[in-house]
Amino acid sequence: MKYVYLFGEGITEGNKNQVNILGGKGANLAEMSSLDIPVPPGLTISTNVCKLFLEQKQLSKSIFSSIEKALNHIEKTINKKFGDPKNPLLLSVRSGARISMPGMMETVLNIGLTNKTIPALIKQTQNEQFVYDSYRRLIMMYADVVMEKAEQKNHIQIREKLESILEKHKNVKNIKKDSDFSAEDLKKIIVEFKTEIKKNFGIDFPDSCKAQLRGAVEAVFKSWNGKRAIKYRKIENIPNDWGTAVNVQAMVFGNLGTQSATGVAFTRNPSNGTNMLYGEWLENAQGEDVVAGIRTPYPINDSSKTRQTKKSTTLEEAFPKIYKELNQIKKKLEKHYKDMQDVEFTIEEGKLWMLQTRAGKRTGEAAIKIALDMNTEKLITQQNVLDRIVSKNLNEIMHAKVDPELEVIHSPIEIGLPASPGGAIGQIVFTAQDAEDWDKKNKKVILVRHETSPEDVNGMHVAQGIITAKGGMTSHAALVARGWGKACIVGCANLNIDLKNKVLIINNKKYNEGDWLTINSTEGFIYDQKLGLVQSNFMQNNDFKKLMLITDKFKKLKIRTNADNPEDAALSKKLGAQGIGLCRTEHMFFDTKRIRSVQKMILSNESKNRKKAIMELLPYQEKDFYHILKEMAPMPVTIRLLDPPLHEFLPSQKNTKLIKSLAKSMNVSTKQIINRIVDLFEINPMLGHRGCRLAISFPEITEMQVTAILTATAQLIKEGKKPNPEIMIPLISGVKEFDHQKSIIHKIAKKIESNYNLKIKYSIGTMIELPRACLTADKIAKSADFFSFGTNDLTQTTFGFSRDDIGSFIQNYFDHNILEDDPFKTIDIAGVGQLVRTATEKGRSINKKIKIGVCGEHGGDPRSVYFFDNIGLDYISCSPYRIPIARLSAAKNAIRNGM
Ligand code: PEP
Ligand code: MG
Repeated sequence: MKYVYLFGEGITEGNKNQVNILGGKGANLAEMSSLDIPVPPGLTISTNVCKLFLEQKQLSKSIFSSIEKALNHIEKTINKKFGDPKNPLLLSVRSGARISMPGMMETVLNIGLTNKTIPALIKQTQNEQFVYDSYRRLIMMYADVVMEKAEQKNHIQIREKLESILEKHKNVKNIKKDSDFSAEDLKKIIVEFKTEIKKNFGIDFPDSCKAQLRGAVEAVFKSWNGKRAIKYRKIENIPNDWGTAVNVQAMVFGNLGTQSATGVAFTRNPSNGTNMLYGEWLENAQGEDVVAGIRTPYPINDSSKTRQTKKSTTLEEAFPKIYKELNQIKKKLEKHYKDMQDVEFTIEEGKLWMLQTRAGKRTGEAAIKIALDMNTEKLITQQNVLDRIVSKNLNEIMHAKVDPELEVIHSPIEIGLPASPGGAIGQIVFTAQDAEDWDKKNKKVILVRHETSPEDVNGMHVAQGIITAKGGMTSHAALVARGWGKACIVGCANLNIDLKNKVLIINNKKYNEGDWLTINSTEGFIYDQKLGLVQSNFMQNNDFKKLMLITDKFKKLKIRTNADNPEDAALSKKLGAQGIGLCRTEHMFFDTKRIRSVQKMILSNESKNRKKAIMELLPYQEKDFYHILKEMAPMPVTIRLLDPPLHEFLPSQKNTKLIKSLAKSMNVSTKQIINRIVDLFEINPMLGHRGCRLAISFPEITEMQVTAILTATAQLIKEGKKPNPEIMIPLISGVKEFDHQKSIIHKIAKKIESNYNLKIKYSIGTMIELPRACLTADKIAKSADFFSFGTNDLTQTTFGFSRDDIGSFIQNYFDHNILEDDPFKTIDIAGVGQLVRTATEKGRSINKKIKIGVCGEHGGDPRSVYFFDNIGLDYISCSPYRIPIARLSAAKNAIRNGM
């Protein structure tokens, strides 16, 4: 087994594909070496050695002698010798796992400084202060990492003790920065450091180079099993048996004077993707000084300048030759890695050394621009472009977001389910009516509710964001907010709302109406302060448009939208919808006037009155359908017949004002209305008198709706348009319910065809939302033109979880590893998915032409889209703002399936 791999200019022992044994950092150092990029020479001890070490608890002789042999090679390349009293080599020892685990494992720098080597280094550098400063850094790091943490003596807290010695000397000398100590000061400090170490650990700080190296290497291996690292791996799902590699590298110094410097850079701007180096640097400094923020770094070029640094000297000005070399390296790295890189570099007495390269983190906007530019530059294919962009990138550019710089310095007070991505800031209000009232006074509000209902939609619409204590990813609030692209967090179990006193308590802290909140609903974070927002203007973003056009070249699955009004229909067309897959007709009744007619319809127990209330809705419906069908023509519009879970429309018994006004307009007593509400109260409303069941009891609802749909269609045909309505019967459990409704639809259609004296093209299909409908899909398919899986209800009815209260306990399911994903967000392939597959196969076995799609919220979730595409569905339908994600997912899946 090869334990150790060399790297350094011109050495080609390892490469970037050996991440598993060299770790990310080691593999990239090897790769840069073979590209002839100046990398300080070094060696990588493989992850296999880590595994052996963790088993055997020590480094075997043969491993250590491989390290020493490799060290000889480094010594020759750099012409220095480890431990040499004349020309000493110093080393850094760093961890490097397969996947970067930032800050989780250890690093020791300046190894090789001893009483024997110090004088030589002083002579060479003519800089005593520098040498003693390096030595005190080594002592501090070594004591902390090797003597304390690796030995699990964390109670000693040596770093804090040594820091306080430094502080004491700073006070005595009236010094602000560590770098202001003289060599004499540092010598005194070092003596005190060593005494403190002896006192705490009972042993001396090692004065042997080899002992220092062995200690540091072993400590890095041990840090793989440090508490922090284990916890991080658990969160990030990184296997424990991967182990870390260790990189031992010749030290180069950016703090040797004015001809030395250090910096970090991205090969393109990570915020907006501009193709220019972007970064910062510090003269006469070590790498950690740039990151630690003790001194404000300078911009490396003009395009990296910020408001604070606009007058600072750039690297381009101070080191023009090096800047040019850095640009050449940028080109080389990008050509090789075919991606934007994040690099660290050091200039030691006028010579540039590259210390690290890795793919750079970037914003959504930059990710899209960089991928498209690299395609234009012929570095990557269009397939690669799609592969690189993830749904997070699109979400980021499509919605306002909380200023990331402010987010890192604040902690959320509560975390809920991220129901609809974005960011919002507003003052707390507790009722939809207050939201409307405050909005009229030009105040920005966040509506905080236990849960929402159609009564709340106007208030929800004017609010900047919505938070609910209850509810899951397909609860009313989640669904409506997603449709509008509005920030929304649901299922915040720790929210305690006292509606009467308009007070909100979160983890014992009290908030009143009017207090400010900021929400990051992409992550589910709530902050109790007014942070800043970064707005989105994606509709004007040409790169976004270009990206979307590429998706259409590859995807097979059609993407429709869920839209209930002409405005959303128009928006969804701009976003690329190929039709409407779900027009929820009950959403058309959210308007206050209309909702009263629905309430009257529900509350009437006399057929005559009910019919009257229903007919009040006809003109509204006809107008709605006319505009939606016109907007989408000739694309299909699937209109679902009324499916109101009654509880969403019933007035609350406490709303006496509304009850009085309903009683008056219905010409009955308030007592009668209240009795009727009690009669209609359903123990489990989601399984209640809704969907086709309601229409079977009250066929006049179907008659009115079909009249409205087909009258609008007939009018449009007369105007020369090509409307394409698909009438959808909701919540059937078998073919008989379907046929019952179908005959009503046919009867009305005949009537309208004869009224208008024309033939109307329409189809009749059904929503599949119940397991029984899936299992009898072959029978249904004989009669239906299309199936549309309502995966929200299908998930609810398959699991038996209520979509309205799963938010209150789902976290327990995650904590106990019972569920990995929220099944209302990502399709449960093993259960619900199998029902979808079975129903599709059964349906197609009888009716080859049947059109099959999905209109549940899963249509906007990438992994669910892959599944639906793989089982051969014709389309998915999702909220307008999720169309781009669905297009991207469908294209990615087509590419993966080798189209
Ligand atoms: C569904 O159940 O998946 C669906 C789309 O219908 P709704 O969410 O309106 O119940
Ligand atoms: Mg449903």
